[in-house]
Amino acid sequence: ANEGFARSAAACFAAQLDPTLEEIGDIKTAVSEAVTNCIVHAYAGTVGTITLSARAYSDRTVKISVADKGCGIDDVAKARQPLYTTLPDEDRCGMGFSIMESFSDRLTVTSRTGKGTKVTMTRRLSSPTT
Ligand code: ATP
Ligand code: MG
Repeated sequence: ANEGFARSAAACFAAQLDPTLEEIGDIKTAVSEAVTNCIVHAYAGTVGTITLSARAYSDRTVKISVADKGCGIDDVAKARQPLYTTLPDEDRCGMGFSIMESFSDRLTVTSRTGKGTKVTMTRRLSSPTT
């Protein structure tokens, strides 16, 4: 239910670095994909806590992590492949990780079956034009 809140909170946090509108849009989209995965996959049919954390570094890098304590992912490499989805009947197209990857400079996924998943996206913002 709080997917929209998480997306906006990440955008507000990144705003302190004076990002471009495109960069803000990319961050929102990537966070939205990560949080949606927690809701529909990690906590399928249940309600659980999602932890969003964000850091800004002096070189204009933003690092955002989205973590859950849900079902975990058995094979992370397979899950990250484009078009791979375990919910094809629910209109999922298996593009979430690919989207997160294309909007980040670096994407790391750590997961333990039955324990949960943590996705960390790192993105270095362009230099301000003014
Ligand atoms: P889409 O994002 O295009 O709607 P999708 O969510 O299935 O489809 P991805 O976001 O790329 O595609 O995720 C691929 C697969 O990885 C999912 O189908 C699911 O099996 C698994 N997965 C992703 N995130 C999590 C998570 N937080 N917990 C458990 N499984 C996950
Ligand atoms: Mg997804």
